[in-house]
Amino acid sequence: MIKNYDLVVIGGGPGGYVAAIRASQCGMKTAIVEKATLGGVCLNWGCIPTKALLKSAEQMAFLNEASKWGFNFENLKFDFTNIIQRSRSIAEENTRGVDFLMKKNKIDVIRGTGTITDTATVSVNDSKGREIGRLMAKHIIIATGGRARMIPGVKFDGKRIITSKEALFLKKPPRSMMIIGAGSIGVEFGYFYHTFGTKVTIVEMMPHILPTADSEISSTLKRIFEKSGIVIDTETRVESVKLAKTKVTAKLSDSKGGKDIDADCCLVAIGVQGNIEGLGLEKIGVKLEKNTIATDKLPMWRVFMPLVTWQGSRVWHISHPMKPSFVWIKSQARRQRE
Ligand SMILES: Cc1cc2nc3c(=O)[nH]c(=O)nc-3n(C[C@H](O)[C@H](O)[C@H](O)COP(=O)(O)OP(=O)(O)OC[C@H]3O[C@@H](n4cnc5c(N)ncnc54)[C@H](O)[C@@H]3O)c2cc1C
Repeated sequence: MIKNYDLVVIGGGPGGYVAAIRASQCGMKTAIVEKATLGGVCLNWGCIPTKALLKSAEQMAFLNEASKWGFNFENLKFDFTNIIQRSRSIAEENTRGVDFLMKKNKIDVIRGTGTITDTATVSVNDSKGREIGRLMAKHIIIATGGRARMIPGVKFDGKRIITSKEALFLKKPPRSMMIIGAGSIGVEFGYFYHTFGTKVTIVEMMPHILPTADSEISSTLKRIFEKSGIVIDTETRVESVKLAKTKVTAKLSDSKGGKDIDADCCLVAIGVQGNIEGLGLEKIGVKLEKNTIATDKLPMWRVFMPLVTWQGSRVWHISHPMKPSFVWIKSQARRQRE
């Protein structure tokens, strides 16, 4: 199957599907290639399901303190399976919404893995790597997002050493959880599991939790967390994480020396790395740097702009829906009409 498009977007997360909708609205014949589920990390495994879990935790925290408002419960119980199921249903409902938006905006959704074979061609492959389609495009947007980064040398098993994805559907709250990394993902899961009874320890290399947030926010949150019983070790490095049959042990080092901590489960939340493998980027001369597409020394906000990566204005890179991409799409669509 060979089809021609004005724009092919690789990756159906919020960066990709929003760009595709805008392009189609501007009159470009558009296709989107997605290897998993439309909606990407955000709708399936990120923003949306975590907020659903946090809502359950918020309700639980309220019920735990309801006597302040004159309510008394005996034997207050929660059903963890239902809490997880609610979050999964909300995620699924949202991704169905994206399917609908693709139909409504007449965007062809091609299921499979996209690889750029040259600056005007995207080959679509099935899970076994067999080519199932070929799309010719005037423009290609790479919107393949990212995935959780692992600590080098740490053996991820998806059961005791997990990422945020597995943390979204554990069967029950573990008795104890160490969370490596106190960014937004680490603190959200810390709050969630602590609320449902898990003994949580958060380890952060930087001096503050939420290191990129305003210091007033991070110090206030630290105070609230510690008051509630969450243990926080800042300025602490994780030297190693060892997996045993029933526990995980981390070797920590700080200015006072170091210590070992044990937990039932270890959530690694130290950031993300780009999904750039297998896209064919090296072949066509795109510069890669530290597991992502090199963006030279652009200021942070420009990293999210579609980038002219090589050979004129054919292939662009986008992450998350960003206004500059819509401006670009509009200008391309206008140029095509003229
Ligand atoms: C636990 C968690 C909570 C988060 N909470 C928030 C939040 O509250 N607010 C917020 O703003 N952000 C949040 N984020 C971040 C947010 O999810 C990402 O910034 C966002 O998903 C990035 O969008 P994207 O479209 O660039 O990539 P992604 O959402 O990663 O989508 C990329 C898509 O491309 C597909 N793909 C990859 N390679 C190929 C290929 N070769 N061919 C075809 N398809 C491919 C993938 O399957 C995926 O569907 C959270 C992330 C996590 C992990």
